[in-house]
Amino acid sequence: MKRTTTYGYKNDSKKKYIWISVGVVVILAAAIAVFYYFYQNNENKTAQPAPTESVEEQNSEQEEKTEENESNLMDEGNTTDSNEEQGESEQQITNNGYIEGQPLPTEPTFVEGVLIANKKYPLPSTFAPGESEEARNAFEQMATDARIAGFELVAFSSYRSFEYQDTLYHNYVNRDGQDNADRYSARPGYSEHQTGLAFDIGEKGKEDLWLTEEFGETEAGKWLVENAHKYGFILRYPQGKEEITGYMYESWHFRYLGVDLAGKVKQANVTLEEYLGVE
Ligand SMILES: [Zn+2]
Repeated sequence: MKRTTTYGYKNDSKKKYIWISVGVVVILAAAIAVFYYFYQNNENKTAQPAPTESVEEQNSEQEEKTEENESNLMDEGNTTDSNEEQGESEQQITNNGYIEGQPLPTEPTFVEGVLIANKKYPLPSTFAPGESEEARNAFEQMATDARIAGFELVAFSSYRSFEYQDTLYHNYVNRDGQDNADRYSARPGYSEHQTGLAFDIGEKGKEDLWLTEEFGETEAGKWLVENAHKYGFILRYPQGKEEITGYMYESWHFRYLGVDLAGKVKQANVTLEEYLGVE
């Protein structure tokens, strides 16, 4: 009996351990189940919105792309907007009006349909349209009427290729230094003469006044300022506008814009940069 009792006691305590073990296992299992449940739930919460967001992102990306395409279509080669945005976001370091480190573009810039070439909007080195026939015809008409008024006008320089401007500019730099050359001669790619729409005009028989401010004081120079717009030309670099145009006063440099626009710019009494809002 003693053994049985002992046995019974041993048996009892064994049962007790078993129940405790079962209890621990159940609690552990429950804990694991609860943990797993919350873990799963939590993952769903973070996982679920993710695909929605990426879809939204994709959508907005697509919308942006569509907008870009639309604006590209509207602008048709007009790179001004993107250029301006780039310019505003970056710190522009300028050197004699040029933006330091700016590469030449692959496409020319048109603002409101007007081809622009200045120190901020250069031309591709490959842009070589030659002299504009329309501008040449307009000049000849102007020269004919000037002859009647008593002046023999000469266009002593019009279209200049990128390569020619390169040679010309570097000759000026060698002669006068870069700072001086930058005031009256464009670096290659930046010359309006590369558009085929710029004409340097002087008077026959007064060659000594070609490329001088004094030409603007002559009767021929004054006649041009008053009448050039009727033929589609404007005095491109007027006195006191160096800050805007990037060039000192050039009494001889005229730009062909067509009669309509030239008349408007003349009427507004502003530079082309101011008229187009690309100062
Ligand atoms: Zn010129």
